[in-house]
Amino acid sequence: MVKRRPFDVDRIRKDFPILRRNVAPGKPLIYLDNAATNQKPRCVIDAIDEYYSEHNANVHRGIHMLSEESTERYESARERIARFINADSPEEIVFVRGTTEAINLVAYAHVLRTFKKGDGVLTTIMEHHSNIVPWQIMRDIKGISLGFADITDDGYLKMEDVKRKATKRTKLFTVTLASNVLGTINDVRAVADIAHDSGALCLVDGAQGVPHMPVDVKRLDCDFLGFSGHKMCGPTGIGVLYAKKELLERMEPFMGGGEMIREVHVSGAKWNRLPYKFEAGTPDIEGAIGLGAACEYLSNVGMDRVRDHEKELVGYTLKEAKDLGILDIYGPMDPVHRGGVFTFNLHGVNSHDLASLLDAEGIAIRSGHLCAQPLMERLGQTSMARASFYIYNKKSEIDLMIGALKKIHALFAKARGR
Ligand code: PMP
Repeated sequence: MVKRRPFDVDRIRKDFPILRRNVAPGKPLIYLDNAATNQKPRCVIDAIDEYYSEHNANVHRGIHMLSEESTERYESARERIARFINADSPEEIVFVRGTTEAINLVAYAHVLRTFKKGDGVLTTIMEHHSNIVPWQIMRDIKGISLGFADITDDGYLKMEDVKRKATKRTKLFTVTLASNVLGTINDVRAVADIAHDSGALCLVDGAQGVPHMPVDVKRLDCDFLGFSGHKMCGPTGIGVLYAKKELLERMEPFMGGGEMIREVHVSGAKWNRLPYKFEAGTPDIEGAIGLGAACEYLSNVGMDRVRDHEKELVGYTLKEAKDLGILDIYGPMDPVHRGGVFTFNLHGVNSHDLASLLDAEGIAIRSGHLCAQPLMERLGQTSMARASFYIYNKKSEIDLMIGALKKIHALFAKARGR
């Protein structure tokens, strides 16, 4: 067995060129907006650079050398990604633009085509808009029913509500692996089991899961899994829909055009084999190659260690923050059930004001409804501040953030004359 090097955050930081920059004089970048998108290691940047410098050509078409090299790199990336999530075969990996497109593909190519009026989708109230709005559109154009399973006040999915809200006509259960707001890591296997017991399918939004923990689609037993490259050290504009092969075989295409056909006649067309049936048009070749390089990088770090590091950071943050008395913290307080997401409101300070004051300290966080307005409404909030972590973040950065929060709170309290 190869002996792994110990996890060394300082060594990892050296892989990310952007972490060397200052965002203001004397203010090095403290990047805590990783749930929105994260930074890219040198090997991913180099893989894209090398592709354009040495191999650029369209894939699957040309007989010439560059086209063959480009195709080989594009397809090796697909194989690497299949191994990364333990898919049975690269045919189950459909390249899309990101999680949003993956979910829309399932909506248009599966739900729209096969659901009857009154058939149901059951989602949860903690979903990102991209796992809500496509189903609302299906409700509008197809007359499907849409249910929302509730959460507990401390941010856990209520499994009994998943069972209670499901009906005989619920044909698709959909749930996020980890919430981008609460950090909650859901037991998606349990949801998949509930779905399968009634002959329904299960779609998992992996946007905040796949980048942060080991994910094995066989263990999750999900039928569909969507995730985005840009949240896992890869480029923007590329993502994946994983689906079980027998489903992809049964499904009709999402978009029509070149690449996805075997033959076209005036009278009609025949579809290409998997996964190309779902990849109309020239694909994002450099995106796929960049995402393949990102999966290789993360596999070398070790996804179990990515998860352990984030668990430690979020546990440390919760411990430091909970007794300050100046913050409302949302989501599970147990880091075992929480990804590296710390979401809060600072008493007396609007989250957007807070984000811009932290920015002046070189600290990048996110503020607002976090693309989860139904969840905000459920929790009686309109906006929140979110610090989210990745492999290169350090406890010293969290200390600086907590110090800045105390300072900002004191300034606002003084301005109000308290
Ligand atoms: N689902 C979740 C849980 C997310 O956090 C995000 C991105 N914030 C998405 C879906 C959408 O991802 P993308 O914008 O890359 O399509």
